[in-house]
Amino acid sequence: MKIISIVGARPQFIKAAAVARAIPEGHFLIHTGQHYDANMSDIFFEEMEIPKPKYNLGIGGCPQAAMTGRIMEALEEILVQEKPDTVIVYGDTNSTMAGALVASKLHTPIAHVEAGLRSFNRKMPEEINRVVTDHVSNLLFAPTQAAIDNLKNEGITKGVHLVGDVMYDTTLFYKKKMRPPKVKLPKEFYLCTIHRQENTDDIEKLKSIFAALRELPDQIILPLHPRTRKMLQNIDTQGLTLIEPVGYFEMLYLLENCKAVLTDSGGLQKESYFFGKPLLILREETEWIELIQCKVAHIVRNDPIDIQSKFKQIQALGRFPANLYGQGNASNLIAKYICG
Ligand code: UDP
Repeated sequence: MKIISIVGARPQFIKAAAVARAIPEGHFLIHTGQHYDANMSDIFFEEMEIPKPKYNLGIGGCPQAAMTGRIMEALEEILVQEKPDTVIVYGDTNSTMAGALVASKLHTPIAHVEAGLRSFNRKMPEEINRVVTDHVSNLLFAPTQAAIDNLKNEGITKGVHLVGDVMYDTTLFYKKKMRPPKVKLPKEFYLCTIHRQENTDDIEKLKSIFAALRELPDQIILPLHPRTRKMLQNIDTQGLTLIEPVGYFEMLYLLENCKAVLTDSGGLQKESYFFGKPLLILREETEWIELIQCKVAHIVRNDPIDIQSKFKQIQALGRFPANLYGQGNASNLIAKYICG
């Protein structure tokens, strides 16, 4: 059997790390190049010992359509040559959708890891990528029952499997390797990440988020995504600890040692639950609705009043129910369904 995983962005390296371990034979990676900075890409392959991609398309830093188109063009050539039995795509990036579209037109079976997630906000590029990918996939690996229900509502029931979340597998596997980042950390701190386009592309929104963060009484550590850093020239960040993006092992340390998490990241929302940390979601909605339902998270959007008032109640959040995202064996189940 020949299996190809298509990855391009930081969260996909983290998800593919688990799947690559579960399918060690006859499986290789193609890196589209969507994330290319050393601290957004190389560090994950090195530290997590993810197999070096057989191909790197080197396509990053261009607008949505150009990126998707160029990835598709390059992938088609490779997939025609390699003739894989299955292509695995992850999550909701342009690399995910481009990979799924190319494979579907070549009649190559597609497995989508993290299928069925929906924000119901079609202004998010990620939502378009998810919907398109799910509708052309043959195997749909859903992390939650809510994801299964979303797929059912769109008429997708064939090939759907509830396997849990591969990011939980990754956290459990690498937890013992956590280590502090090379910055001086205060004794008590809150961990924050911001990179969703809906927050970074609107300077007024970003300003109001940072103004609200600056008003908070506690230390906030912010590993900054390159997209966010580019937008910060005219934004007052005094009092906040801005650091470069950290590697996964350092991120695990920050998660373990922070008091709570504030984020617009999809992955970090779940990881804060894995570490039993209360969470404020800096978005209008979340795909991970079970976190809201079981009251370990609040949605605070980018509204300074919401951010400040919910921050005051943050430590009251949290009777963390077990296994919202499976048993930590999602990647083994995925391997079983793909390889038989
Ligand atoms: N992450 C990391 N270093 C950072 C920021 C995030 O290792 O400086 C990890 C984080 O722990 C999670 C993943 O990257 O596993 C999430 O990626 P990101 O927030 O970029 O994307 P999203 O999950 O929102 O698609």
